[in-house]
Amino acid sequence: NESRVLEIRIMGYGAGQRLLIARDITRIRQLEGMRKEFVANVSHELKTPLTVLQGYLEMMQEVAEFNPGQHKALQQMQQQTNRMHSMVEQLLVLSRIEDGSAVNLDAKVNMALLIDMLKEEAQALAQGQYQLSFDCDPTLNIYGNEVQIRSACSNLLSNAIRYTDPGGSVHVCWKRVPLGAQFSVTDSGEGVAPQHLTRLTERFYRVDSARSRQRGGTGLGLAITKHALNHHQSDLMIESRLGKGSCFSFIIPNHLIDTGKRGH
Ligand code: ADP
Repeated sequence: NESRVLEIRIMGYGAGQRLLIARDITRIRQLEGMRKEFVANVSHELKTPLTVLQGYLEMMQEVAEFNPGQHKALQQMQQQTNRMHSMVEQLLVLSRIEDGSAVNLDAKVNMALLIDMLKEEAQALAQGQYQLSFDCDPTLNIYGNEVQIRSACSNLLSNAIRYTDPGGSVHVCWKRVPLGAQFSVTDSGEGVAPQHLTRLTERFYRVDSARSRQRGGTGLGLAITKHALNHHQSDLMIESRLGKGSCFSFIIPNHLIDTGKRGH
């Protein structure tokens, strides 16, 4: 009596005919659910031991005297535990965001504040080594989930800086377009070859994993961004040219724009 999940596809088939393909994906969905729950549980369980490690490492650095070799080793340990900590955090964010059931799109998102925060974040990351520019309409507000919109924008911005060498430029734009409100980040960075583009939002997919790791990534940013945007009926668009730069953008649809008419 258990309910089953069917995936139905309708395809064109010869002159004016349609072919309907139904596939029972109940088992696939169950396994997907188990995988998500497992990842969420493991991430949660890893948080405590990691916090303990980070705490003791910090304490050791404060109280003990080390020779240069030992000091370097301790720094490495700290860096690696911090990295692991952000991965665990990101995995938890991803598992929360994958389960879109609790997303409420009725709250106003204050874009002026969000853009200010993005500016500060960008300046901290860029450390004066990039040409940063912002062309944002702070009066263009939307309805949605602030945490998710913020994480989408901030992931795109930090990627643009991380995948652009110092001296390059990063431009952020938030403006009204016919289909809604568009956020875009354009960089003059390393770019992505066409064959990788469709896979960038898969979790842990990286064009060059050694390089991405070195640039401080977790491999989860764009997966989180994709889910956050999907909850707002929006898709991530990527245009890129290898060696020239990229533009990552999304459009929040018209019905989620705050026109001042809703009674909130
Ligand atoms: P990561 O933590 O590795 O940056 P993301 O999910 O944020 O993970 O991005 C996935 C991959 O997409 C990156 O490893 C990188 O190869 C590529 N990428 C993302 N943003 C850019 C960009 N602005 N320019 C070039 N490559 C990018």
